[in-house]
Amino acid sequence: MNYVSTRDTSKDKLSYTSAEAIKLGLAFDGGLFIPREIPALSLNDIGALKDLSYTDRAKKILSLFLTDYTDEELEQCCSEAYCEDSFKGGAAPIYKINDSLYSLELWHGPTCAFKDMALQIMPKLLSKALVKTNETRKTLILVATSGDTGKAALEGYKNIEGINIMVFYPNDGVSTVQKLQMASQTGNNVNVCAIHGNFDDAQNGVKSIFSDKAFKEVINDENGVILSSANSINWGRLVPQIVYYFSAYCDLLDNAAISLGDKVNFCVPTGNFGNIFAAYIAKLMGLPINKLICASNSNNVLTDFFKTGEYNKKREFHSTISPSMDILISSNLERLLSFICGSEKTQSYMTMLANEGNYKVDAEDMEKINASFVGLWANESDTASTIKNVWTKYGYLIDTHTAVAVKCAEEYRRDFTDNTVTVAVSTASPYKFAADVYASIYGKKPESDVAALALLSEKTGVEIPYPLADIEKREIRFKKSIDPANMKNEVSDYIKSL
Ligand SMILES: *Cc1c(COP(=O)(O)O)cnc(C)c1O
Repeated sequence: MNYVSTRDTSKDKLSYTSAEAIKLGLAFDGGLFIPREIPALSLNDIGALKDLSYTDRAKKILSLFLTDYTDEELEQCCSEAYCEDSFKGGAAPIYKINDSLYSLELWHGPTCAFKDMALQIMPKLLSKALVKTNETRKTLILVATSGDTGKAALEGYKNIEGINIMVFYPNDGVSTVQKLQMASQTGNNVNVCAIHGNFDDAQNGVKSIFSDKAFKEVINDENGVILSSANSINWGRLVPQIVYYFSAYCDLLDNAAISLGDKVNFCVPTGNFGNIFAAYIAKLMGLPINKLICASNSNNVLTDFFKTGEYNKKREFHSTISPSMDILISSNLERLLSFICGSEKTQSYMTMLANEGNYKVDAEDMEKINASFVGLWANESDTASTIKNVWTKYGYLIDTHTAVAVKCAEEYRRDFTDNTVTVAVSTASPYKFAADVYASIYGKKPESDVAALALLSEKTGVEIPYPLADIEKREIRFKKSIDPANMKNEVSDYIKSL
């Protein structure tokens, strides 16, 4: 299986192995890597996955895409990534909310958010990719984070041979829980630093380091270090996400909620369009999916896109209670465009987006897109009341992102009169956003989000997941906070210390 860039318009497209795609992250023309063709699974193949563990389901699906990895390598990556130690009680269990609505819980990993599903395995895939591509230099992963990605990347990369990771976060832009999670990070190859500034300052600092050719040459020549990112557009982060759609389908079969061949809907709380795009690939591979419901918060640029065909990022940015979806440029949409419209149109749409801030997809292409997707959104008060309703009606505690998905799933069923079994994808533990979850149910926001953990657990009787349970008691290892202007020096000092 080979990979090509979404923007490669040449007749004989440049092709890459999966190891190369994972190592490079982004193609040289600025496009994203996509598989050249999509492997197919028959209904019998899908049925056969039912009796396998999550690890073996993952191994089977990944082996279809990562053909340059050996069976032993994939076995090792999957069994280490999704082991019971990291995902207590199973990697991606489904929970029945009612007869036609299920929740796919993707937050049983070490940081209590769905980013773990990819970031527990991607570092292992990258480490093997470096060996496969004869890379002898050390790799430093640089991350700017607004919260969840940084912690998930640190947990994924800690103690991985030959790779170090450095995370910058905005001192005043993350929650206390998120700060404690990162500052107490363990591992002998990790570094964490706060920035006096907001997320944009952190991100701009990291971007300017990545684009500083002279700096990269110096660290390469003098220190034998190359830079890489843990960005969500890397194919190595996307491919593990295909697995849990098959896994959820198998679990629905197991529960006798559906029969083999029945269609299901997935409703995915969406930001960068990575998670829902993985579901689309599963559909192309043959998983019986009726509709993919793209659920947005008030940053509803995608809802408008599916409705009108116009993607327009020139709009007000809203800070919401589902912050991991506060995004106006959904990078992975480029992959869908490339599949549907081809690389030439994709390239021109992306140029328009960069230069003018908007583009409009042809009506006939939109028809193809709308055959698979529906875009809906939830405002802040609907999100909060969904948390409350699902708790009082079903005794099921959900986080703010999952609430956006549940609200959109219910609206879809009502307005589109579709009774297909629907799975709302649950992307974070309610305890990751405990203060807003508490306020949604009990009306008053606790004094701090650390206090909210205990309060929410006391009131609901739902246990705090172990990675968050003793958060205020952990040893703080990283206390440094610096000016954004000093980020490059900080990276340079860290490299010299390696
Ligand atoms: C990252 C994230 C999302 C958005 O996922 P995309 O793949 O970017 O669409 C949704 N919910 C949570 C909790 C997240 O951390």
